[in-house]
Amino acid sequence: MAARYDIAIIGAGLGGLTAGAILARAGRKVLVVERGNSVGGAASSYKVGDLFVEGSLHATSDPHDPGDPKHDPLKRAGVLDIVRWVAAGNLYEVRGGPLASPFVLPDNFDAARQALVQRFPEARDGLATLLGEMEQITGTARSDATLSQTLDRVFGDNEAVKAALAANLSYYHDDPATLWWPFFAMAQGSYLRSGARYIHGGSQRLSSALARAIRTAGGDVVLRRTASAITLDAHGCVTGLTHTAKDGGDPQTVAAARVIGNAAPETLAALLPADGGDRLRAAYADCAPSISLFALTLGLARPPRDFGVTAYSTQLLPDWMTRLADYAAATTLMAQEPGARMPPLAVVDYAAIDSGVPAPPYVLSVVGPDALANWHNADPDAYRARRARWQTALVAYLDRHYPGLAGAVVASSFNTAVSMRGYLGAPHGAVYGFAPTPPRPDAPRPDRSPTTVIPGLYLASAYAGFGGYSGAIAAAGHCADMILAAG
Ligand SMILES: Cc1cc2nc3c(=O)[nH]c(=O)nc-3n(C[C@H](O)[C@H](O)[C@H](O)COP(=O)(O)OP(=O)(O)OC[C@H]3O[C@@H](n4cnc5c(N)ncnc54)[C@H](O)[C@@H]3O)c2cc1C
Repeated sequence: MAARYDIAIIGAGLGGLTAGAILARAGRKVLVVERGNSVGGAASSYKVGDLFVEGSLHATSDPHDPGDPKHDPLKRAGVLDIVRWVAAGNLYEVRGGPLASPFVLPDNFDAARQALVQRFPEARDGLATLLGEMEQITGTARSDATLSQTLDRVFGDNEAVKAALAANLSYYHDDPATLWWPFFAMAQGSYLRSGARYIHGGSQRLSSALARAIRTAGGDVVLRRTASAITLDAHGCVTGLTHTAKDGGDPQTVAAARVIGNAAPETLAALLPADGGDRLRAAYADCAPSISLFALTLGLARPPRDFGVTAYSTQLLPDWMTRLADYAAATTLMAQEPGARMPPLAVVDYAAIDSGVPAPPYVLSVVGPDALANWHNADPDAYRARRARWQTALVAYLDRHYPGLAGAVVASSFNTAVSMRGYLGAPHGAVYGFAPTPPRPDAPRPDRSPTTVIPGLYLASAYAGFGGYSGAIAAAGHCADMILAAG
């Protein structure tokens, strides 16, 4: 007879684990099925030889702030105080692009307001307006404005102040002209409200703590098992889940009246009977996937500060980016051979704070926008060769900003959109769920809800709200609430 669970969860990323921990601690019998070798999805950290690789986290807002979207779900999951949330200092230092000299954006509203007005006195009134809007905005904001429209309205053609405020754009999206202003205001505002944090010792500690919380509450988390089918009854309601070993063998079916998808809706659609799959696909037909990212991790023989890295987080904007809108042109750069144009880079020096990241080698994480389409015509050898040339070009570019850095590289790991698709199982290599673009007037937002068109099938992931740690964890909290409310 098939094992019976109240809830079967497909995927052990932050969304699946957080929903699983809340539900298990509320007395539900939970099974989490993860295709990877360990829990965490993007929220993983691991070793490649001596090199510590942080799979994703540069920063998240402080979940100890009761107003933070992660506060309540992580508390109910029992892990809020199990990991240490280390202050990352300022939100970032931005260099290059339209800025003549570096600017440091502090991670609280008062200090940020002061630093911005001091640096851009001509934009004093606009800054008061914009930061005021960011402080007050809530999840129910009705505006359909984009980031570009808002910044243009407030700052006109003052591109330097726009870059100072939104230099970390790739933490959300790649194009200010299509990034939904209320989302940016809430996400960037949450850093300015509660401060930027890193998880001491790496994001794996949070993921592992969530998995432990599930097991301690009597749930099961199984690894190296791929969900292969969601079963439905004659009325189209969920009845269970089949999962197999990685090679497709050893199928096992469990009974569960509710299935939560932490995997992408496109992946879930392929697991449903044809009819159900078509209905699920149709529900998200208008939702574009988010951007992907490349992530270059460098292990240095000496601390990055020895080469002039002066902040935990540096947003390095290339000189060709004279307007914030130019950001959009960066995503397709890797489709070509490296040339004169380098992408905007988010550079994080884990040795700059008490991160708990082991050293030496000293870890420098370099992240920028990428797209699966950049690599789609390349056979495996051509892909590896172009990726290697990009790595060499990126290191040479960093060396121009931080002389001597290239000679100190003793270890490296370079993930692209292709790697993201492989290790997250994410269609399109998307790392933030659906793209955070403005809603269409009066259209329902299936991509902002844990419920789906299939009775009994829920989403707990970046696809059920917004991307990032806050988005995936908040969506998981909503998903668990809905299931608990339904009895
Ligand atoms: C390089 C990088 C840097 C980032 N930096 C930050 C940052 O600084 N701050 C921030 O807030 N966010 C950051 N993010 C984004 C953030 O990590 C993600 O948005 C978030 O972790 C997504 O969580 P999730 O639970 O929705 O999905 P995922 O982490 O994608 O998890 C989905 C899980 O489902 C599993 N799965 C898929 N299909 C199946 C199947 N058929 N059967 C079983 N399991 C399956 C996958 O293996 C995976 O473990 C970054 C992401 C990347 C890649």
